[in-house]
Amino acid sequence: MNIQQDLLIQKAMEAGFSRAVFLDSLTLDCREDLRAFCTPQTCPSHGQNWVCPPGCGTLDACREKAGRFSRGLLLQSVTDLTPPTAPQVYKTLNSQHNFRFRQLIEELSPGPGEVLPLTTGGCVFCDSCAYPEPCRRPQVKMESLSAFGIDVAVLCREAGLDYSFREDRVYFTALLMLG
Ligand code: SF4
Repeated sequence: MNIQQDLLIQKAMEAGFSRAVFLDSLTLDCREDLRAFCTPQTCPSHGQNWVCPPGCGTLDACREKAGRFSRGLLLQSVTDLTPPTAPQVYKTLNSQHNFRFRQLIEELSPGPGEVLPLTTGGCVFCDSCAYPEPCRRPQVKMESLSAFGIDVAVLCREAGLDYSFREDRVYFTALLMLG
């Protein structure tokens, strides 16, 4: 790991992420079967913002975009829970994770060149997404891991990070792809 990678991980931990791993030679597997869950019938965010379909583009367009990047900083926000956990708690933790991601992106900007941020739970650069008016921060908007068809569990496990669905712990994941 070179100094730049060390610094990226240090900044991620300072931002409050639980875990940060630098991935070299990263090729994302954008899966049709996962993107198939993005429908107006299954997700209330469909057609509401620039990072869900149709605003984010076709899966081929997402695949082409991801293919321009070869490295990534994989980040996790991990929280232990005491079940039963109210849905609002998950929502709040997801929001905190994404604001932490936004803080890191802004700290690194203009930093390591072109980036592709991916996360879960939507883009938090604006109070309300400008969609269908033009995106206000197209260079850094937080794209959706789901809309890109990414299997987050596989991505984390291949990076050596724990990831599971359990009642007493929640994992929120983000990936900052770098050229
Ligand atoms: S930067 Fe603003 S307008 Fe662009 S996707 Fe994010 S929330 Fe929407």
